[in-house]
Amino acid sequence: MYDRGAGRGRSRRWQPWLATGGGLALVATLALILIAPWQGEIPLELSYSQLLTELAEGRVIEGTFVDGERVEGLLHPQSSTGTTGPVTFETQLPLAQGDHLLERFVAAEVPFGARTSEPTLWNGLLFAAPWLLLGGLVLLFFLKGPGAQFARHSRTRSRMARHGRGPVKFSDVAGADEAKAELEEIVGFLRDPRKFGRLGGRMPRGALLAGDPGNGKTLLARAVAGEAGCEFFSASGSDFVEMFVGTGAARVRDLFRQARAHSPAIVFIDEIDAVGKRRGEAAATGSQDEREQALNQLLVEMDGFTPSDSIVVLAATNRLDVLDPALLRRGRFDRRITVGYPDQKGREGILRVHTRGLPMAPEVVLEDVARGTGGMSGADLANIANEAALAAARRGSTLVEMQDLDEARDRVLLGSERRGLLLTAEDRYLTAYHEAGHAVIALVVPGLDPVHKVSIVPREKSLGVTAMLPERDRHTHAFRDLRARLIMLLAGRAAEEKVLGIERVTTGAGGDIQHATGIARQMVVNFGMSQRVGMVDLSGDDGPLAAHTGRIVDEEIRRLIHEAYQDALRILEEERGLMVGIAEALLERETLGQAELAELVAELRRPPANGTGNGYQKPDG
Ligand code: ADP
Ligand code: ZN
Repeated sequence: MYDRGAGRGRSRRWQPWLATGGGLALVATLALILIAPWQGEIPLELSYSQLLTELAEGRVIEGTFVDGERVEGLLHPQSSTGTTGPVTFETQLPLAQGDHLLERFVAAEVPFGARTSEPTLWNGLLFAAPWLLLGGLVLLFFLKGPGAQFARHSRTRSRMARHGRGPVKFSDVAGADEAKAELEEIVGFLRDPRKFGRLGGRMPRGALLAGDPGNGKTLLARAVAGEAGCEFFSASGSDFVEMFVGTGAARVRDLFRQARAHSPAIVFIDEIDAVGKRRGEAAATGSQDEREQALNQLLVEMDGFTPSDSIVVLAATNRLDVLDPALLRRGRFDRRITVGYPDQKGREGILRVHTRGLPMAPEVVLEDVARGTGGMSGADLANIANEAALAAARRGSTLVEMQDLDEARDRVLLGSERRGLLLTAEDRYLTAYHEAGHAVIALVVPGLDPVHKVSIVPREKSLGVTAMLPERDRHTHAFRDLRARLIMLLAGRAAEEKVLGIERVTTGAGGDIQHATGIARQMVVNFGMSQRVGMVDLSGDDGPLAAHTGRIVDEEIRRLIHEAYQDALRILEEERGLMVGIAEALLERETLGQAELAELVAELRRPPANGTGNGYQKPDG
């Protein structure tokens, strides 16, 4: 049996070894980074005639004549190869060119230049440089010893934590009105600490911003600093708990020392849960000691604030439930501010903020875009604005139009298309039925969001998609709606089984099954929707459930999934005509939008005109 002290001693002895291992990993990474550019991408070999075609069709971005023997240059991304960035190419020039290549460059208005290739010795050196550097680094590492090395590493890191970007203001943060109102007080304090005290305000020390990633916690913290005109220092909780750096607490001290030197200041700690988990609980990463020391140091720093320090600590987390209660005590992070997903108005505002500098076409209605982006985070919306500008540029347009925003939204929602990916006929067929299965359920089972698009164009994340968008923001979900979602998610696999038989179903439903299991688990564990488990919330303790309860939970999840799958099979049987019709339309057209889908359904359900057509009618019941 070991007592804690013995355990601690042991981990100390291991630290130099961990440090050595970590150091080697660092050196290897550095070497990779250094070598990568020299390994470079291999240019696309274009024949001379291909080059002429590319030029004529306007796909060449620039070219360089090398030694008068070959042309190197850049091509626009090509849909045929599925690339997304410019492609480098190389073309050997024939000895005699009768067709004035230079003039063609001029005519096509493609910038070009010329150079002679470097002497080979220089090339050789360039190639050897990263290896020499690598050797040097390894030497240095062993000469100086891991300890010294890493202490220095840690110190430079926290110095870099000070940010110098232009100030963010509250007007850059859209929506989040309640959060802003709560933060106003902190702004007031930082602007003039003494006046704040005279007016009887209680000195704020810390506030916790809680919410899912991408909804503006960091942005709000920066805005507080911007509004107050004070310094902003930031670090991430995970910086303090890195495995092999024995300096978590030292980094915390360092951070606050700097903040004090520049007060008034905001200290922002992202992912505070990494360091602020309840003490005494097993940590997933990092050494327990390390984390506790860092946490204790943080508490010491906050407790030691005096009014003249004028420092406020803002921390962000999406795991309020795991935080050590000591952090939430009075005089520490005693204010909690929820930063949630934006609602319709908030989304419109965020889109407005991020399209401020873009040339928007007058007929773009951001309110409509906001309506079609329910459930997205602020970061997603910022991304849409960005992608829309790129889409407009790709079209060669000077204005961002509605179509660009649509394209951008699909990109953010579904991942970008990979049209170059070649599928076997069987994969395509299977995907068409899989998606048709999802779509049928979405169309006929009440309680589901409308289908926005069904497609079998392969994308980054999947071979096909059935995308649904909520019509309005939802805050609660009825049991019936969650069951409908389960059926919808499992219907992809159910459709595969229907057309190909259980033997040939594919791995394509993996994501669906994972998603469905997650929902079923929440229904049982969080929402009290299983009678056997009852209305108890079992999510509170992070640890494993008691074996007995755990088994019942498992059985209940299985039951929900099984029943939903049986429902999916049954409904697809009843609606076989609809499923086949949609799958065939997909095989023919690849993508069906909301309107096209509605049209198709109407057509499939129209009774046969003279008894000869193979029209399809919705069966009763
Ligand atoms: P978090 O810290 O909650 O993970 P961030 O503050 O890093 O989120 O947000 C990421 C980005 O998303 C921001 O830099 C900003 O561009 C955008 N964003 C998020 N929320 C908003 C908002 N309310 N208003 C404007 N932009 C936002
Ligand atoms: Zn699916």
